[in-house]
Amino acid sequence: MAIQTQATSGYQGTVAALDTHQNIEPALAAQLGHRTLELSGKLQTTLDVDELISLFSDELGHDIQHRGMHYHNSAKEIETFIGRRSAHKCTYQLVIEENSLGELTLFSKKPFNTEELTVIENLLCALVYPLRNALLYRSALQSALIDPLTGAKNRAGMEAALKREIELSHRHNSPICIMLLDIDHFKSVNDNFGHAGGDFVLQAVVQCINETIRGSDMIFRFGGEEFLIMLSCTEIEGATLLAERIRHKIEALSFAPHRTLQITASLGVSALQRDETLDALFERTDKALYTAKDTGRNRVITG
Ligand code: GH3
Ligand code: MG
Ligand code: MG
Repeated sequence: MAIQTQATSGYQGTVAALDTHQNIEPALAAQLGHRTLELSGKLQTTLDVDELISLFSDELGHDIQHRGMHYHNSAKEIETFIGRRSAHKCTYQLVIEENSLGELTLFSKKPFNTEELTVIENLLCALVYPLRNALLYRSALQSALIDPLTGAKNRAGMEAALKREIELSHRHNSPICIMLLDIDHFKSVNDNFGHAGGDFVLQAVVQCINETIRGSDMIFRFGGEEFLIMLSCTEIEGATLLAERIRHKIEALSFAPHRTLQITASLGVSALQRDETLDALFERTDKALYTAKDTGRNRVITG
């Protein structure tokens, strides 16, 4: 099984799992073999990517002096920084069976010499499998929190995420609003255009919301055709404007060739009050949503 760690920015090296100690003195090879095995055991104690990189950096510090370490996995949007940047660095692409695990950079005050690079490359072999496991675990955790149909977050992690945001808002005295959105007469979409038609509408609505909110906002699929949107650092005036914008965009959605398919949504919006709990905020917003339904649908009500 091939593991590749390829050094860039000045150094080039490729390491295969079974021949990592080739071309080096037998005594050093034996020492490295023992150390790699020991390190593997230690690195297998965590499935958290940040913790793993931090552990690797600490452990590597016993063998190689370095000032900092940077791990970057652009595909998974992970970036971990430990210690400090410095004038000299070596960067390795971590690969298992042609699957990229990201890029690891080590920083040092002085250039790394050949022996140090050999040690680093060998010890990286102890990192790649625990890193792959940690990445797989992270993906599994994340997909458990995502609604597969729409890509919105699902209800599983909602309460924890909202409580965290509310706590931060109370602590930093920053405004926070939530919105509850329910598609109007959605049952008739299913009845007239089939379940697949209904699914397509749900995807279009989430896309519409995502295009309107900020990256720091969060959208949860709360129920079948109900969504909760959390707007951090937003006052009620801004949240109401945003809700109106979403409502307009949903009303303007067209589903060619189904010209007769048109949808609307009702929304309730509330701002978190001082010392208010999540339950109380939710209840107020839900009441606002029901007022929107009761007073004719396709409208925004502030609670
Ligand atoms: P209202 O305006 O009062 O909200 O009426 P409504 O028809 O939207 O509300 P109701 O609660 O009566 O119906 C919701 C429908 O949403 C019924 C259910 O079959 C449908 N639904 C829930 N989840 C899904 C899904 O994942 N896909 C599809 N296609 N339909 C779904
Ligand atoms: Mg509905
Ligand atoms: Mg509903």
